[in-house]
Amino acid sequence: MGIFENKKIEGITKRVLQLFSESAQDAHPEEFAAGLREIDGIISELILVPGTVSGPGSAILKLHNLPVDFSIVGVIHSHPSPSYRPSREDFITFGKYGRLHIIMAYPYDLDSWKAYDSTGKEVDLEIIE
Ligand SMILES: [Zn+2]
Repeated sequence: MGIFENKKIEGITKRVLQLFSESAQDAHPEEFAAGLREIDGIISELILVPGTVSGPGSAILKLHNLPVDFSIVGVIHSHPSPSYRPSREDFITFGKYGRLHIIMAYPYDLDSWKAYDSTGKEVDLEIIE
């Protein structure tokens, strides 16, 4: 059961990654987080929530401010370090919220991110032009 376990997510638009990259650069060296909205199996929109910029390690925790919207399938957040590995705290959040999580690490480019499922396992996502 569960509202988040319907359709497989196949890809993400380049535009979403670029928009997030800009926000992550602006927030650096703080973390930044945003919601991910899917349309027909593609992550197509970034949902920016006021107050998601905060100190290292805690940006993702403010996401309870996200609107109740079942097309929001997960969360993307930045790591101010070059590591896109989930932290222990990330694994806990992954299990609690949504079904797809993306970490974009410094320097926040189109090669410095990885997607994970709710158990923290890596997921392949195609970049859609
Ligand atoms: Zn993290």
